Amino acid sequence: MEFDTLPLTGGRTAPASGGVPNVPPIVPSVGYVHSTMAATDAALDGADFVYGRNANPTPAMLEEVIAQLEESEDAVVFGSGMAAVHAALLATALPGATIVAAEQLYGVTRTLLDWMAYALGYSVHYADFLDVAAMRHALAEYQPAAVVCEVLTNPLAQVVRLDHVLDAAGSAQVIVDNTFATPMLLRPIPMGAALVVHSATKFINGHGDVLAGVVAGGGDLIGAVREFRTLLGANLDAFGAWLALRGVRTLALRMRQSCASALAVAQALADHPRVERVYYPGLPTDRYHADAAALFGGDQFGATLAFDLAAADRDMVFAFVESLTLIQSVTSLGDIFTEISHPATASHRSLSPQQQAGVGIREGTLRLSIGIEAPSDIIADLIGALDG
Ligand code: PLP
Repeated sequence: MEFDTLPLTGGRTAPASGGVPNVPPIVPSVGYVHSTMAATDAALDGADFVYGRNANPTPAMLEEVIAQLEESEDAVVFGSGMAAVHAALLATALPGATIVAAEQLYGVTRTLLDWMAYALGYSVHYADFLDVAAMRHALAEYQPAAVVCEVLTNPLAQVVRLDHVLDAAGSAQVIVDNTFATPMLLRPIPMGAALVVHSATKFINGHGDVLAGVVAGGGDLIGAVREFRTLLGANLDAFGAWLALRGVRTLALRMRQSCASALAVAQALADHPRVERVYYPGLPTDRYHADAAALFGGDQFGATLAFDLAAADRDMVFAFVESLTLIQSVTSLGDIFTEISHPATASHRSLSPQQQAGVGIREGTLRLSIGIEAPSDIIADLIGALDG
């Protein structure tokens, strides 16, 4: 072989070993070589890995873990949470179909639904899912093909009674965005949901370094989701999947710590005179405490909470956030780091002041996503900023 060819021949397969690495490999390869053309032919029918947009072993391992956690038959990972939401909607409702969605949805999911209504002819109706009677009424009136809701809402950590939604859904396919609750608190598939979606960017990965999404479910529906991913090319790359696979291994440890700390933080904030109101279903006085206990089993209530600074205008809120030293102002959540955000200017920026007020967001409302730092340090940072 010529010198130019030599580096292209060796080093293309891992040396044979009797031992299997106990940490899975990152497989960046787009293509796969089979021993015969008949095997390539079968692989193209879905029998084996053949091309990276169809399937890749590293995301497939992440899918296996998430399916176990969600108690679902299968799971499909995506390059972002929004790609996962989009595929779940396409799989459950064809253009022209009716969708009922909770008003309490992540803003960009709502924008996507509005665009699907405008551009693709879907009939999309929103209802207040915190009001069980209003939710039941909407489902009975519109008889939708698909229903979309979250269980722990953003940013006020309110609780949607998924058991009642599933009971009222009839033949509609219920899609649950389980990003905030995580399978640690709630597993919607065994309860009867058709599909679960996640922004795996958040608690599933948990380290703030991967943008990813997942849809979990079973049967033809998850088959359709997988097909849409291949058609849309909305894949998660092997390195991102490997990082998320490493991240998800500590989901239970992270959630346990963050939920316990969130309760301690909520209690400390509730006792401070500069805090007008705390929103956290773990507080026995919270309006959603009993609902959260019924759905989540009673000892964990999530890692996110919100609070209203008393008599705060925008300058005061910004000054408060800027005076924090440990907690960072980040437009994300679900990480090992404690993060604060101002919903009026961040997650719910696209809503008018009236719409923000309608879902309970005020100028002084701040959202916290509690990480795994010592709770005493998180509390000291917040109290220092409140007292300062
Ligand atoms: N669903 C929820 C509840 C979210 O909070 C987010 C993002 O913040 C998404 C979906 C979209 O996820 P991604 O940003 O990974 O596309």
